[in-house]
Parts: sequence; structure tokens; C-alpha cells
Amino acid sequence: MIRIEHLSKVFRTEEVETTALNDVSLHVKQGEFVAIMGPSGCGKSTLLNIIGLLDNPTSGNYYFNGQEVGHLKEKQRTQVRKGNIGFVFQSFNLIDELNVYENVELPLIYLKKKASEKKELVTSILDRMNISHRVKHFPQQLSGGQQQRVAIARAVVAGPKLILADEPTGNLDKKAADEIMELLLAVNRRGNTVLLVTHEQRYADLCGRKIEISDGRISI
Ligand code: ADP
Ligand code: MG
Repeated sequence: MIRIEHLSKVFRTEEVETTALNDVSLHVKQGEFVAIMGPSGCGKSTLLNIIGLLDNPTSGNYYFNGQEVGHLKEKQRTQVRKGNIGFVFQSFNLIDELNVYENVELPLIYLKKKASEKKELVTSILDRMNISHRVKHFPQQLSGGQQQRVAIARAVVAGPKLILADEPTGNLDKKAADEIMELLLAVNRRGNTVLLVTHEQRYADLCGRKIEISDGRISI
């Protein structure tokens, strides 16, 4: 599903040049659950953003389902991302002006799904994420754990095969964090490939595989 070959990412500003990823190679098969660990600033988010087609590498290749996608223009990247890749962030990134139902419906609107299909998909995913009782609530009216459940619902509602989660439990207390980890494991059991950036060893131990990044390189 994911094949990365000798990938590097250099951020350049006028004064500084930062090598965020340095000759990284990685293969991930469909259905795997991979934990990505490493100290702050080592390149975890940069790697996830490139895999999630939010950014391009400076050099190297990225094959997603066999297609080279490492050097696409932003518009083409969005095209490949839509319906194929779901993202979950530490800060939830829900839209404050939309209620729970509307937030989760968004990816289906982008994909121009029919009204009946939208309703069925949103209702069933909210049920699976145990958040159906909050459909009319707005993000600020929810706890962090509830917001993250909505964010996972939004990430998976359109049926993408790949879910990328960047420290999704970083802003949550232990109980809410454990619940989010449970949901991600459940998402993986249904066949999704999941890449999870986490600082929690206990979560990494629940994943099928762990990689460690250090200074822009994969060390294990
Ligand atoms: P992590 O997620 O592991 O904490 P990041 O991938 O966010 O690390 O960052 C890796 C390195 O790249 C850091 O040194 C960071 O400052 C730098 N970096 C990340 N994004 C940018 C950017 N947009 N512009 C400049 N430097 C960046
Ligand atoms: Mg990060």
C-alpha cells in the first residue's frame, strides 16, 4: 500500500535549512497497524504529512497503491487523498461552526455522495464511535475525547483504506486516550491500514509493528 524509497525532506527558509527526513525508506502493507515513535522534532509529522499527501518530499519516491505520488501538484494530491486517506490530528481540527453530524458529513459532500447514502454512512459511523447522542452538538460543547471520536468518524466515514493519526491522544486524559486507542484498533480490525504517531509505549505495544525515528532517519 505504501512504499517509500530514499525519501528526504528539507525545509528551507531564508536563514535556516532543516533536514526533517533524511533518506527514509519504508514499506507498509494493507491492513497493518504501525506505531511511529521518536522525540519531538525528529520528523514524525513530516513523514505522516507526506504519506497523507499534504506535502511533497524534496527527493525520493513515494508509491501509494503502486502509483508514484511523491511529486504531484497540490490539486492532484488532493484528488488522490479524497476518499483514500483519512487524517486524525492531536488538535482534533473539527470545524467549530458545524455540528457533529455536519463535521462527519463533510468528506461525503466533497465526494458528491447521494443524500440517502450520506445519511446512512454518517449515522452508522457515529453509532460505531459511540457519539450518536451528540449529533446536534458543536465541537466546543464536547469533551476532548468526544471531539476526537468525531474526528475519527470524519476520517473513516468515506471508507478510506489508510488512516493516519498524528498524536491523536496527546491532548486527552488517560481514560479518553485509552478509548481513542481502542477505536483505532477497531478501525484496524475492520481492515484499515493505520499509522499512529504516539509517545505512549503502551499503545505502541498494541500495534503490529513499531518504527522509531531519530533525527530524520528510521532507526528501527
Ligand atoms: P515531530 O512531528 O517528530 O515533532 P516534525 O516533523 O514536525 O517533528 O519536524 C521535524 C523538523 O522539521 C523540526 O526540526 C521542525 O522544526 C522542522 N519543520 C517541520 N515543519 C516545518 C516547516 N513547515 N518549515 C520549516 N521547518 C519545519
Ligand atoms: Mg509532530
